Amino acid sequence: MSTTKADQSLVVLGAGVIGLTIAYLAALTEDVSFNIRVVARELPAEDMDSQGLENNQGANWAPMELGGRDQRVREWEQKTFNKLWDMIPTGLVKLLPARAYAAQEGNASDLWWKDLAQNIRILPPSDIPEPFKAGVAFDTISVNPVEYLPWLQSELISRGVTFERRNVRSLDELRNLVGPDGILVNASSLGSRSIIGVEDTKLYPIRGQTILVHAPGLQECLMGELKTEEVTYIIPRPGTGQPGTAILGGTYQSRSWDTSLDMQIAKRIFDRCAALAPCLKSAESRIMKHNVGLRPAREGGPRVELERIPLPLQSTHGLVPCNESPTNDRDHDQGSMLVVHAYGFGPGGYQRSWGAAEEVLGLIKAQVALKRT
Ligand SMILES: Cc1cc2nc3c(=O)[nH]c(=O)nc-3n(C[C@H](O)[C@H](O)[C@H](O)COP(=O)(O)OP(=O)(O)OC[C@H]3O[C@@H](n4cnc5c(N)ncnc54)[C@H](O)[C@@H]3O)c2cc1C
Repeated sequence: MSTTKADQSLVVLGAGVIGLTIAYLAALTEDVSFNIRVVARELPAEDMDSQGLENNQGANWAPMELGGRDQRVREWEQKTFNKLWDMIPTGLVKLLPARAYAAQEGNASDLWWKDLAQNIRILPPSDIPEPFKAGVAFDTISVNPVEYLPWLQSELISRGVTFERRNVRSLDELRNLVGPDGILVNASSLGSRSIIGVEDTKLYPIRGQTILVHAPGLQECLMGELKTEEVTYIIPRPGTGQPGTAILGGTYQSRSWDTSLDMQIAKRIFDRCAALAPCLKSAESRIMKHNVGLRPAREGGPRVELERIPLPLQSTHGLVPCNESPTNDRDHDQGSMLVVHAYGFGPGGYQRSWGAAEEVLGLIKAQVALKRT
């Protein structure tokens, strides 16, 4: 069956890297014509400094524990790494030489990511700084969220995708926008903990405090092993808007919702990073900004899953806020809404984005195909 323009309604809740990448892949799809609307409390172009949109990070590809033990996550990371690697010529993505230091000696052939990153080699003991015992050098990629998210948004706008700023308290608020045959993508990250109809209590934050510096001498990504809540990393950022900048990190504080700045922690971050990269103390380096963000983690890993939600919403005891829709009859069956959830990407939303978005699009297309048979 052939499609006409604006065939399939698709509403994406959330305009972070996950929501935007899903919308982007859907907009580019040739076999289904989507009519796409992105709804979010924070939008990239206007809210890049907001803590509701995670943009205060490197953001690079780095080996993370979940990628080592979860095949699905590993595949998302592989696809994303390859996609971002191919985007290096655009200038939005930087090829980043990296060194990861470990507290224990190890063997490069044991690394689960040896076929994912590029040019992996074990560092000789003379290249390992105190207090580390081993180290691996490799080539990775990094993006600058402050340029990357607005780029995704402008690409979407140029393809006819519309954006709406809105705080959604309950999934059924989007019912009219989605329409009877439409599909909702829920990419609302930590918001899914409190949006009625999702209320996912497995979600939790991992607090990350960082410092943005101007330090043109930093050309390499340096990372210390993740063993405590206070970690050490330096990630030079790509892009033309903030040349010569890097993110210094950081903290990894599970279940802390505290978004206030702690200058004692900032001092420790700076000192640890300066011990690895003394150029941070040179005259040409300066601090530009302190950041605190929350990584949207989830017990059991990210949720990418299709759900058909009956309307009115069940298990809410009739307590759903009802401010705007006179048709919001809570007593009668109102059908259902098809939702694809995509949230809980924790410390790796950027490095999992293209692979996860591809899986989401596969779920959506399968539903569209089902409807047509
Ligand atoms: C310090 C730090 C360092 C990091 N480093 C890296 C890294 O190096 N590499 C990497 O891959 N990842 C990194 N991350 C993680 C990465 O930032 C996140 O995984 C990623 O941003 C999550 O993207 P998202 O689209 O799911 O959510 P978000 O970017 O949080 O976007 C969520 C969207 O949903 C909207 N929303 C939420 N609730 C509602 C609501 N009720 N109504 C309407 N809209 C709503 C928001 O407004 C926003 O538009 C880091 C994070 C931090 C904090």
